[in-house]
Amino acid sequence: MTKFKKLFVILLMVTGLVFTSCGTDQTKGSKEQEEPAKTDKNEEPEREKQTMKREIYYQGHGSLRITTSSGFTAYIDPFAGDGYDQPADLILVTHQHSDHNKTDLPARKENCRVWQNTDALADGEYKTETIGDITIKAVEAYNSNHPKSQCVGYILSFDGIKVYVAGDTSTTEQMKTMPEEKLDYVFLPIDGVYNMDPAEATECARLIQAKTSIPYHMAPSKLFDQKKAEQFNGPNRFIVPAGESVRY
Ligand SMILES: [Zn+2]
Repeated sequence: MTKFKKLFVILLMVTGLVFTSCGTDQTKGSKEQEEPAKTDKNEEPEREKQTMKREIYYQGHGSLRITTSSGFTAYIDPFAGDGYDQPADLILVTHQHSDHNKTDLPARKENCRVWQNTDALADGEYKTETIGDITIKAVEAYNSNHPKSQCVGYILSFDGIKVYVAGDTSTTEQMKTMPEEKLDYVFLPIDGVYNMDPAEATECARLIQAKTSIPYHMAPSKLFDQKKAEQFNGPNRFIVPAGESVRY
C-alpha cells in the first residue's frame, strides 16, 4: 500500500467513526428535542389557546388533571401542585392515603362526580363505569404498603386514547395482561420507598407495553425529581416535569 493509499484508508475509517457516533447522538438528540414539544411551555401561541383541551396536566407527585376535547375535566388523586382552578366534572381517587385524596382541592362543576377506590373496587369486584367523556376501568394496585382491597389503578379511555394511571403499586399480576389493552400512556410510580423503584417500574413498563411510559410519584414530599425520573427506563420513556402537560 502506498503512503497515500494508507492515509486515505485511515481517513475513511475516521470519517466512518465520526459519522457513526454522530448518527447515534442525533437519534438520541432528536428524541429529546422532540419530546418537550408535547409540553406546555414549548407550544406556539396558537396552540396556547387550546391549553384546556386534549391535555393531561401533571401537577406533581401522584396528581393529574385531564381535559378532554369537549372540555370535560377530571382530576386524579388531587393533592400536589397547582392547577385546581379548572372546575371538575370528575374526581378520581386511587386510595385513601393523604397524598392522594384531597377531593376538596379542585373547583367543581355542579354535577361533579367523585369516584373513590371504594366505588372502583366493591364486593371484591373491579368496576368499569363511564362518567361523561371518560370510561373508567379499575385495575389492581398493591404492595406491602398498599393493601390490594383498598387500592386501585385506573385505565381511562377518552378521545380515542387509553391512559393507565397505576396509582400506588408495585408489579401486579394484572400487568401481564395489559398489552391487550393497547395503552397509549402509562403513569408508573417509581419512588422506591412506598412503591416500586425505577428498576422495577422499568420492568413493569416492559410488561405493559404502552406506547409511551411516564414516571411519576417519584419521592415522598417532592413534586418531581429529574434524577429519579431518569433512572426509569421504560420503553418510549417520556419525562413530564411537574407543572407541564402531555398533549394528545
Ligand atoms: Zn402516594
